[in-house]
Amino acid sequence: MDSEITKDFLRQIVADDLAAGRIDAPVTRFPPEPNGYLHIGHAKSICLNFGIAEDFAGACHMRFDDTNPQAEEQEFVDSILEDVRWLGFAWVGPVRYASDYFERLYLAAERLIDKDLAYVCDLDAEAMRAYRGTLTEPGRASPGRSRSKAENLDLFRRMRAGEFADGAYTLRARIDMAAANINLRDPVLYRIRHAHHHQTADRWCIYPSYDFTHPLSDAFEGITHSLCTLEFEDHRPLYDWLLAALEVEAAPRQYEFARLNLTYTLTSKRKLKQLVENGHVESWDDPRMPTLAGIRRRGIPAPALRHFCQRIGVTRADSLVDVSMLDFCVREHLEQHAPRAMAVLRPLRVRIHNLPQAVDIEAPLHPQHPEWGTRSLRLSSELWIDREDYSENPPKGWKRLVPGGEVRLRHAYVMRCVSVDYDEQGQPCLMHATVDLDTLGAHPQGRKVKGVIHWVDAGQAQPVRVRLYDRLFVSADPEAGEGDFTRHLNPNSLHELEGMIEPYLLQLQPEQTVQFEREGYFVADRYLSQPQAPVFNRVIALRDSWGKESA
Ligand code: ATP
Ligand code: MG
Repeated sequence: MDSEITKDFLRQIVADDLAAGRIDAPVTRFPPEPNGYLHIGHAKSICLNFGIAEDFAGACHMRFDDTNPQAEEQEFVDSILEDVRWLGFAWVGPVRYASDYFERLYLAAERLIDKDLAYVCDLDAEAMRAYRGTLTEPGRASPGRSRSKAENLDLFRRMRAGEFADGAYTLRARIDMAAANINLRDPVLYRIRHAHHHQTADRWCIYPSYDFTHPLSDAFEGITHSLCTLEFEDHRPLYDWLLAALEVEAAPRQYEFARLNLTYTLTSKRKLKQLVENGHVESWDDPRMPTLAGIRRRGIPAPALRHFCQRIGVTRADSLVDVSMLDFCVREHLEQHAPRAMAVLRPLRVRIHNLPQAVDIEAPLHPQHPEWGTRSLRLSSELWIDREDYSENPPKGWKRLVPGGEVRLRHAYVMRCVSVDYDEQGQPCLMHATVDLDTLGAHPQGRKVKGVIHWVDAGQAQPVRVRLYDRLFVSADPEAGEGDFTRHLNPNSLHELEGMIEPYLLQLQPEQTVQFEREGYFVADRYLSQPQAPVFNRVIALRDSWGKESA
């Protein structure tokens, strides 16, 4: 392991296990349920499980925890695999499914019956709840608890054979109805569910519970460290009980860590699904969504997300991470990796009256990477600038254009605004200007010009659709308080503009990122963008102005 990497408590545990000879190499797994798209919280778990395997020359398995066929779909399986690959990780061995183990799980359940450690229960869900007791009261034994081994085996086999309706029986572990930990009060191991499964089709009509499936799947795969979020801490005694009951040698160990919570962000597949189904966003991969597919489409590079996960670290303390930390990692990455170009998002036409002929200019693609080369710009007597770079009544500290004032056109001349024509609505529609012909690559004589604005030559410009995204929620904790989280949705989370871009931008491939100078970082949309007809999404503005300025 790289000694530079600071060890979180889980890496410390793995290092200790290696040093003590308890394991030869760690084997971890990432075990999503395919009931939705992965979100940024899952990125933490992916980076942790795959990262530990990488750091200690072990292996990480990709395993779908697919025991709940009604909520699961092949679409989610496919998207999850794509997201994990996109994030930059490779699993060892085939893609695994808990459903691959249904037969072995079934046989393990028969063994528990045979050891008198499981029984068939006839209580329905409501009765089972009533029998379970409360935190202060012990539970009561189900009538089925005293059934004979032979009877249990017979009933369980008939459950599998499809003789009974959904909910008629369950298989439960026989542990302790008075246990302080309610998870140990004879938890359900199998339910009857006549449902089609995306992997096993109609082969099964009984499905194992998560609590039964997870430890055994871990054991079947030789997982050494089974890492999960803190809400499973109370399930650990059951995890250990099952492995002991089935006499598993070198049993996997479960360790818990705090889930990632982010300000202004939902991290629940169920709630994200609601946003999609109720049309609050366009799709699971809408660039405003905190799904990995949405983050990707937004243009956030995978290395920036991995870096973010590294920075937030791994602990057992629940916390809320400020989303500006993610923004910081994104800007830091794009500042170094995105080439520069010019795009005018709110075009205002300018006519230069004293330019004898068009000039061609070579402009660097990145100020710190001369080796990246340049792109060619032309300046002729008609160009586009941004409407917002002109003001008749400028606020204090304004460095952009005013009537009679000067600014530098980025990479080109100093330009003076001579006059402005207005349309019928009283909006500026054409600016008349002159340039100082001695200022190409040179300071103007006898005066300082502070402002610099971007521009695009009108003869070269190509129209473009640009989508400016803002936070999806206006509240830092959209799940807090009374009522539905959707009331915290930001009504202005998307602005579409028709802009003008320089020719270089026509060459960008879908998913390539770029800095529009003075505007922010943008990405060519993964699906809508075609070379020659691009659509750009704003990844992020250049500076964090959120809450300080309107969009
Ligand atoms: P959700 O609540 O969004 O449905 P989940 O925990 O049910 O998430 P799973 O598919 O079961 O989703 O999760 C796969 C793995 O990812 C689990 O090990 C889970 O603990 C982990 N995980 C899920 N959400 C987070 C999160 N916010 N932070 C860190 N890890 C997470
Ligand atoms: Mg879950």
